[in-house]
Amino acid sequence: MKELTMAIVGYGGMGSYHAHALIPDAAHIHLKGAFDIDPARQQAIADDGFVSYPSYGALLADPEIDLVLVATPNDRHKPLAIQALNAGKHVISEKPAMMSPAELEEVLAVAKDAHREFFTHQNRRWDPDFRVITEIVESHSIGDVFRIESRVHGANGIPGDWRHYAKYGGGMIRDWGVHLLDQLLFLLDGPISRVTAETSTILGNDCDDGFTVRLDFASGIRCVVEVGTTNFISLPRWYVKGTKGTAEIIDWDLAGEQVIATGVDTTAPAPIRAGVGLTKTMAPPAENAVRHAALPAGTPLAESFYDNVHDVITAGAARIVKNEEVLRLLRLIDAIFQATETGQSVGFE
Ligand code: NAD
Repeated sequence: MKELTMAIVGYGGMGSYHAHALIPDAAHIHLKGAFDIDPARQQAIADDGFVSYPSYGALLADPEIDLVLVATPNDRHKPLAIQALNAGKHVISEKPAMMSPAELEEVLAVAKDAHREFFTHQNRRWDPDFRVITEIVESHSIGDVFRIESRVHGANGIPGDWRHYAKYGGGMIRDWGVHLLDQLLFLLDGPISRVTAETSTILGNDCDDGFTVRLDFASGIRCVVEVGTTNFISLPRWYVKGTKGTAEIIDWDLAGEQVIATGVDTTAPAPIRAGVGLTKTMAPPAENAVRHAALPAGTPLAESFYDNVHDVITAGAARIVKNEEVLRLLRLIDAIFQATETGQSVGFE
């Protein structure tokens, strides 16, 4: 099995996470070194036992390097990826792949001319909670799913420095939004007919500190995607409705359940007190009308991100994260920006 040697440009939070947590798990990829413009991070690279290249040029000139990970702020992905491809390296970009679909098209053209591979680290396709939702949708355990609500809520504001500024590719649409939207595009078939969006700028930045997006798939499935950084009480990570039940995943520890109609009892529930009134409509279903089921284990993907990158480069394997999927994702993000600017829902596909 051919081994690949790799280097990282941008050794901040995510670059060093790749170095310590992700690359060591790759069966045939080895990290040699990294470059960062910040002298303190250059020292961290050396302290961590890797080659600390004095410049990006020096990293790219190292003939042992087959593959470069770009893990800098988002606005730097394009020039650094193009430089690496032109130096004959394969490239992984952190998400969002690029600032716009036009940028990605440009980079893919360079990759094609250079006969090198370009990948995007859409790692949350592997998240256990998302694998569980995938199994619920595909197994029809709650019937045909017609609504998916996917949320991440925090109360710590926008983290770090560059994420506060639009010009560096900051904001939550380009941060968590990229992950949550990618998951739904990967999961659900067919075109998205309409996109509706609102952003929040409560913290006073020139980019969003949270957003709510509604995607109407042509199939009839409606999704709500929401990211918040000013939520002192969080809504569940996932809330999914099907024709025969409802599923909920509360958090990343996978607390949650499926509640599924048994179909054996259609007796109307007894009315309950609701505030100062009375309701049958909102009363809990009769005990034998539903059953509570544990969440399923989750459908695994064929292999890890890095093993797939290795197999694509060395053996022409099928990609788990396809460039055309990433391009569609960036087009969707453009449509979301358009919808927020105009205050109108926009047609998409
Ligand atoms: P960070 O600020 O912690 O680190 C960025 C690093 O890049 C810094 O050390 C900075 O000095 C360095 N840098 C900036 N410009 C550079 C240049 N021209 N050459 C070399 N180094 C340069 O940011 P982060 O949180 O690590 O985010 C980096 C990237 O990773 C972003 O694209 C972000 O969206 C992505 N990210 C992805 C995930 C994920 O789960 N896939 C999670 C976090 C961040």
